[in-house]
Amino acid sequence: MSSDKIIVTGGCGYLGSHTAVALINAGFNVVVIDDLRNSRADVLDGIARITGTRPEFVHCDCTDAATMAHAFDTHRDAVGVIHFAALKAVGESVAQPVLYYRNNLNALINVIDMMARYNIPNIVFSSSATVYGEPDILPVTEETPLQPATSPYGQTKVIGENIIRDFVRANENMHAVLLRYFNPIGAHPSAEIGELPNGVPNNLLPYLTQVAAGIRDHLNVFGDDYPTADGFCVRDYIDVNDLAAAHVAAVQYMIKTKKPIDVFNLGTGRGVSVMELINAFGRATGINIKYEIAPRRAGDVPEIWSNADRANKILGWRAETPLDETLANAWRWQTRVGKIIK
Ligand code: UDP
Repeated sequence: MSSDKIIVTGGCGYLGSHTAVALINAGFNVVVIDDLRNSRADVLDGIARITGTRPEFVHCDCTDAATMAHAFDTHRDAVGVIHFAALKAVGESVAQPVLYYRNNLNALINVIDMMARYNIPNIVFSSSATVYGEPDILPVTEETPLQPATSPYGQTKVIGENIIRDFVRANENMHAVLLRYFNPIGAHPSAEIGELPNGVPNNLLPYLTQVAAGIRDHLNVFGDDYPTADGFCVRDYIDVNDLAAAHVAAVQYMIKTKKPIDVFNLGTGRGVSVMELINAFGRATGINIKYEIAPRRAGDVPEIWSNADRANKILGWRAETPLDETLANAWRWQTRVGKIIK
């Protein structure tokens, strides 16, 4: 067990809160920085109920350099930062690109600036499978060539990765792990924390669970004529608790090896189509989802899934949760939060 301190930006968000739980359970001392723009402070209560420990909380927008300096000064004994805090709605980023560049890049720059200033040597960066664009060969490995991002959101991930590469090159005592997430879904099995989308969900699973709960009438399935096995888009859906565990492994790996930079796909290595997911949800919960076939959604790639061998070999991590368990957890969370829609 380690009592090392880790700063988790965006720690009240969906991925951040599950990762805070995993870190606390692994013995880390967690400080959450969040501006609660897309999250709620009572998430900290959920983390406390699961772990018995309430993380220290700093209410701060990561783009606010002065407040960030104060927070990092207070927590200068931290050994690392996991930087989740970012805007993530692809469509919104197309409509408001400057908002996305300003927010996501300024936040990252402030974080690494503070790491250098206070000699906090490790960062885990939330990247995304979006950096692979529409890949020629599947599954994608970390060596698969990156493609120009199709949205400003995706650009902030590509640019963020490059900023961090340059940062560790210029600062030899700084280390980074870039984690490329595929499609995180599910919730903590306790149903104390989970995904809380703002308004109408963009992502498939929260939309689907809201249909199951009667909040939405039906699911629109975007496209049934893709050049895939069953005509539906294929993604790599990874359990959020498995994803959280990978962050703990990444932090431990950086602390141990002091390697300047590494990059890992976080996925299951398995592709699942939209229709397969709907059917799996039915098997896991007994609920048949009402759906309609709708036109393709602009910007969707037909299929992408990961080769996750590198994380397994180097971090000793693997996505383990069976899909039906993940879907049952998502449904348990949905029934618990009921009709909370911000
Ligand atoms: N999708 C869908 N209906 C929805 C939301 C998503 O059919 O209401 C499909 C979408 O076309 C894609 C898959 O579900 O094939 C995953 O979409 P999501 O937005 O969850 O993640 P993405 O892979 O785009 O990051």
